[in-house]
Amino acid sequence: MSKDKSEYLITRKDNQYEVVIGLEVHAQVTSESKLFSTSSTKFGAEPNTQVSLVDAALPGMLPVINEYCVKQAIKTGIGLKAKINKRSVFDRKNYFYADLPQGYQISQFKDPIVGEGKVILDMPDGQKEVGIERLHLEQDAGKSIHDLDPKNTFVDLNRSGVALMEIVSKPDLRSPDEVNAYVKKLRSIMRYLGTCDGNMQEGSLRADVNVSVRKKGSKAFGTRCEIKNVNSIKFMQMAIEHEANRQVDLIEEGQSIDQETRLFDTKKNETRSMRSKEDAHDYRYFPDPDLLPLEVSDDFIEKLKLEIPELPDEKKKRFIEKFKLSPYEATILVSDNETSNYFENVIKKSDVKLATNWIIGELFAALNEKNLEITESPISAGNLSKLINLIKDGTISGKIAKTVFENMMEGDKDPKKIVEEKGLKQESDPKALESLVDKVIDDNREKATEYKSGKVKLFGFFVGQVMKVSGGKANPQLVNEILKKKL
Ligand code: ADP
Ligand code: MG
Repeated sequence: MSKDKSEYLITRKDNQYEVVIGLEVHAQVTSESKLFSTSSTKFGAEPNTQVSLVDAALPGMLPVINEYCVKQAIKTGIGLKAKINKRSVFDRKNYFYADLPQGYQISQFKDPIVGEGKVILDMPDGQKEVGIERLHLEQDAGKSIHDLDPKNTFVDLNRSGVALMEIVSKPDLRSPDEVNAYVKKLRSIMRYLGTCDGNMQEGSLRADVNVSVRKKGSKAFGTRCEIKNVNSIKFMQMAIEHEANRQVDLIEEGQSIDQETRLFDTKKNETRSMRSKEDAHDYRYFPDPDLLPLEVSDDFIEKLKLEIPELPDEKKKRFIEKFKLSPYEATILVSDNETSNYFENVIKKSDVKLATNWIIGELFAALNEKNLEITESPISAGNLSKLINLIKDGTISGKIAKTVFENMMEGDKDPKKIVEEKGLKQESDPKALESLVDKVIDDNREKATEYKSGKVKLFGFFVGQVMKVSGGKANPQLVNEILKKKL
């Protein structure tokens, strides 16, 4: 067997342990209204202003399924190359919680709307396939607020009833890096589809992280612990690392792992037991008598397939084949729709190779520094392509282009205007360059003699001097030629 260099192992004395991870991702469906009511889902509203009688679970209220949310879930299933189940069932998952006024959550248990699928990860040493077990629709609960008052807990029901897709992976992930790539890829696919905005700060994407360990080479899975409700990729990675090490330590001490639900304390960087793992029968699942089984036709699914845009994997393939990008460049440029659109707009009218380098290099660094998204870029795609053309046709050098670029970052100005206003145009007139070269040789007689007597290393010095007196504007290629001749 070939050795996988990115293998993530935990070592204790002579023992090596492999980490096994499966994720239950909760993705908020992009939809104006909730799964079973017409209340708004807008984020950030005053508490309890987006709560219908259904969301507040007043007696006698009946849920009505939101067709748009069903379409969103099916589209996501198509994006995950998954089996779409034409018949699915909503069940009641019974439990008590202060922010769950119904006393049960409407979810899908035995018959989810989407079955098995897959996600491809682009890892540094190649691609890896992660299996999807299922995707089901369910409602979100409300929110308990514990930190506004020393004695009371407040409940905000705005989120109550918002549609979630729970996307359950197979236990195919093997390291924190793979989890990072998996969540990003999932988010990217859903953003392309417009089915979840993936905004982790607003809680639109969060995950329960299941972790177990086993001796390297062992086939059987170890007992897993489930870390609940982790809302950032960084925290997922930290939680996994911590939890895997905790389990390895227990095994090394000859103890066994209890299957339990744990909580990740981000401040202390540790996981803590919340409760022993509940089993499905603890929830007394049963089909919700208020809702009929959900049945969709082939026609309904086929129509949705027509709405699926080109997704990241296909776009990556196209970028590599059509534009000759490296897999690395293509992966970066397709990571979100906005970036790939920007790229495609830039190269409509300019050189692909230069555009790729300027976007992945200068532009990303500059945006990063200003903490801006590509959609907020001060430099429009049109103006970046103009800048690239100025380099390509020799009007400015790559070095001067960086100065122009910095000016453009300060406001969306036409690079041609900046070059004119600041007099940055590259000097390519042989006559003008010759006189600059003559002056530099004249000013450095001794060095010129040394050069002629064999100290060829000095050539670089002369190029540097000419560039300097030209204010960086001399065409370096021409300077080289003229210097060779004159020296
Ligand atoms: P539950 O609702 O009880 O948590 P699910 O079947 O919905 O059960 O989810 C189980 C999750 O745990 C899946 O993501 C699965 O991949 C993962 N999982 C199952 N067994 C293991 C294991 N031994 N180690 C790590 N993850 C596991
Ligand atoms: Mg679970």
